[in-house]
Amino acid sequence: MTQRICDCTYCECVVPDTAPEVNGKSYCCEACAASHPDNQPCQDSKCDCHRRNWGGIKS
Ligand SMILES: [Zn+2]
Ligand SMILES: [Zn+2]
Ligand SMILES: [Zn+2]
Repeated sequence: MTQRICDCTYCECVVPDTAPEVNGKSYCCEACAASHPDNQPCQDSKCDCHRRNWGGIKS
């Protein structure tokens, strides 16, 4: 079994089978898939990817 990790820049959540897929990338939640518009939080409350992603940081 392969576990996919969310393609959100700072997110390390495992992507569930039902996760949204955008442009061939997989994300753990809708918020990550949409690059956290309005600082929308990740499905995992312990994950702070939405804060770190704020401001559009590139790899
Ligand atoms: Zn996350
Ligand atoms: Zn994510
Ligand atoms: Zn995220």
